[in-house]
Amino acid sequence: MSNKRIGAHVSASGGVENAPINAQAIGANAFALFTKNQRQWSSKPLTKESIDLFKSNCLKYNLQPEFILPHDSYLINLGHPEEEGLEKSRSSFLEEMQRAEQLGLKLLNFHPGATLKKISVEECLDRVAESINIALEKTKGVTAVIENTAGQGSNIGFAFWHLKRIIDGVEDKSRVGICLDTCHTYTAGYDLVNDYTGVFEEFDEVIGFEYLRAMHLNDSKKELSSHVDRHDSIGKGLIGFDFFAKLMKDSRFDNMPLILETIDETLWPEEIAWLREQAG
Ligand SMILES: [Zn+2]
Ligand SMILES: [Zn+2]
Repeated sequence: MSNKRIGAHVSASGGVENAPINAQAIGANAFALFTKNQRQWSSKPLTKESIDLFKSNCLKYNLQPEFILPHDSYLINLGHPEEEGLEKSRSSFLEEMQRAEQLGLKLLNFHPGATLKKISVEECLDRVAESINIALEKTKGVTAVIENTAGQGSNIGFAFWHLKRIIDGVEDKSRVGICLDTCHTYTAGYDLVNDYTGVFEEFDEVIGFEYLRAMHLNDSKKELSSHVDRHDSIGKGLIGFDFFAKLMKDSRFDNMPLILETIDETLWPEEIAWLREQAG
């Protein structure tokens, strides 16, 4: 029996309680969701009814909180160069952490931030770390899971040392972790195709596998080092089937959410079944 926890970023439309139902329907034993509209700053608080239904549906389908990976809003920039944008982002991020907490979840996945070409990469990374500190101080039990990026535009967090610098600035190291997105890793310049061993060795040396809390499994439409974020279905992009087959057999990726954000959701049941088969 494999220890791989595989799922997809499923819809929570109509209420967060629908996400576990949607996960179950595609054969997932892990999943990701937005706990609010990802393109809006504000949203109504979760109702007690919605929270209770979410928890009971997760229980019913044996979807454990450790393998559920909420993703925060795309509007948040925890490294924002300007005071107003930074404050807005920090309060919205805290709200996202609190929603995860209310749902009994353990993780919150987010993109670190962007310099908007107004501050240095280092200053931006340090702002992100301080933003995480503020949110962790006001919440309990939820780990801030930083996702590596493709480095598109002025986004930071594409190089392993960026992620390491953020972790270094976080006071409570037990509640900070990393989610590696395979598409982002590849287009950021790490050659998962020709140097599987070397890339993960470098990750271990620079950051450490003890910080790896989740993976996003996406193939890539764009080339190595292109710094462009365009996901593709598993096996249809430039990363290809062999890489994902290898990853499924690698025990370093056991017991953490492995989440598809691939572009054709009608293929999710097939993709999950194929990945499970590789895991053995
Ligand atoms: Zn991702
Ligand atoms: Zn992406």
